[in-house]
This record gives sequence, C-alpha cells and structure tokens, in this order.
Amino acid sequence: MLTLFPGMFEGFTTHGLVRVAREKGLVDVCLHDVREHATDRHRSVDDRPYGGGPGMVLMCGPVFACDEKVVAAGRAAGLSGEPRRVLLTPQGTPLGPSLLEELAREPWLSVFCGHYEGFDERIRIGLRPLEVSIGDYVLSGGEVAAMVLIDGTVRMIPGALGAAEATQDDSFSRSGARLEGPQYTRPREFRGMRVPEVLLSGDHQAIAEWREQQALRRTRERRPDLLGEEHTGEPQ
Ligand code: SAM
Repeated sequence: MLTLFPGMFEGFTTHGLVRVAREKGLVDVCLHDVREHATDRHRSVDDRPYGGGPGMVLMCGPVFACDEKVVAAGRAAGLSGEPRRVLLTPQGTPLGPSLLEELAREPWLSVFCGHYEGFDERIRIGLRPLEVSIGDYVLSGGEVAAMVLIDGTVRMIPGALGAAEATQDDSFSRSGARLEGPQYTRPREFRGMRVPEVLLSGDHQAIAEWREQQALRRTRERRPDLLGEEHTGEPQ
C-alpha cells in the first residue's frame, strides 16, 4: 500500500480475514508512507493545480520515489520483476469478481491510494497502473477503496477462507452471476418469525432445491439484470 495514512490500515490488517491470511502466510500487507518521500522541510506531497482551480494534487516526486522504494523492498524480500500497480480512482475500471480473481493471481500488488483532488497525470503516464474504481461515487481518499480491493482479493486466494466460509454460494460467486438466498440460524422461532420448515427437514435434496429457488427469486426481485431480465418494479 502506498498511502499518506498508513495508520488507517492498522485495524484492517490485524483483524478478520486479512489477519488470518497473513498468519497462514498466504498474503502480506506492507504499508509505505508516501510522505516519507517528501523532499521539502514541510514534507509536502501535494500542491496547487496548474491552471488554477480548487483543491490540491498529489505530486509526482514523492509518489515515484515511494514506488521505487516499494520495488526495492519487494526485490529484497525475494519477489521478482515488477509489481502489478493498481491506482485507485473513481475514473478507473469498475471493480468486480473477475478483476478480483485476476488480482488474486498476482504475486505482488502495489496499490496507490490517492487523496485531495487525486494524482498528477504524469503518475498515470509514467507508472502505467491499472486504474480501479470501487463505484460511481467519490470518496475522500483511496485507503477505504484499497481495503475493499484487498479484502475482496484475499477472499479469492485459495485457502484464505475456511471450509465453513466457502464462497461457492455467495452472491456473484463462481456458481453464477446471482445473489445468495436467505439464511437462518438458531432459534427456530424469533418474535413470531419461524425458520422455513424445509431447512429443518434434514432432506438435503429438498434443501438444495429450496435454496436454488430462493436464490433465483431473490436475484429476480433485486437484480434481474444479472439474469438478463428487465426489472418488473414489483417484488415477487
Ligand atoms: N478529483 C478526483 C476525480 O474527480 O476523479 C477525485 C479525487 S478523490 C476526492 C481522492 C482519492 O480518493 C482518489 O485519488 C482515489 O484514490 C480515491 N477515491 C475516491 N473515490 C474513489 C472510488 N470510487 N474508487 C476508487 N478510489 C476512489
């Protein structure tokens, strides 16, 4: 991670899936503070845009220097070649399951988190990163987007999730572009709401068929586009 706010990743890397994947040796997350590569006494990493306008733009110098440090650190750790550079921007390729799978196969990712008004254009031109967006809205910085990208990527690494958390029925998983159906756990009845009888039946075939129907129904109600259908407007 190349970031101005490495502290934002502390909780993310020491809890949940990413912590477990790190402990299993499947992934490591290294934080690099772009500000350490500022060269003036104010430790500036941003400046006013040429041509005027609001806000500040991330400068080339500290970002290129940080990238060089990341490459050197990766090589010292035994990685070869170049990292796959990913720059977070609302203008990038929308993040989705196939891109996450692709990124999960990369041995080495270098993730650039922007801030302020974003990056000097020469950072894109010079480093030729894959530009990725997590959605059609603008966040104040790339760190939250980077956590989305890394969490989604780590879930795709074989062995990162335990069997109990298997992804095959998850929404948008490999089993098809559709949503997962409803889930229930104990108790059997809560405030008058009962678990569907079929889930208590022990009939595995009937349960599988029910889940299949529910997944399709839910997808049709909420995301008919995934099934190539038009939205009817009314839940079924
Ligand atoms: N001025 C930029 C524009 O209009 O495209 C937006 C800059 S945004 C305020 C600051 C930083 O947050 C970006 O450089 C990027 O790293 C991150 N960011 C904001 N929204 C994002 C999104 N939807 N996906 C990925 N990164 C995002």
